[in-house]
Amino acid sequence: MDSPVCKKDMFVVEYKQIELDYCHSCKGVWFDAGELELLLEAGGLKGAKQPLGDVLKLPDAQTLEKKRRCPICTTNMKK
Ligand SMILES: [Zn+2]
Repeated sequence: MDSPVCKKDMFVVEYKQIELDYCHSCKGVWFDAGELELLLEAGGLKGAKQPLGDVLKLPDAQTLEKKRRCPICTTNMKK
């Protein structure tokens, strides 16, 4: 998979039995759907429920940074 930031090839790393895509160039990490929740649970943050549910309802962050396309389906991602 290509990094959505710098378009370099990403490495697959396994952390706590979760496969993450890591970019050596920009140090970015890609989480597939549900993987962030798995990681939070593995880190003992199960009490921090709906970590993403509320975030997805927020209006786009106010920033001049350009939107990035999803490297999997190339749709523009929400901030
Ligand atoms: Zn990158």
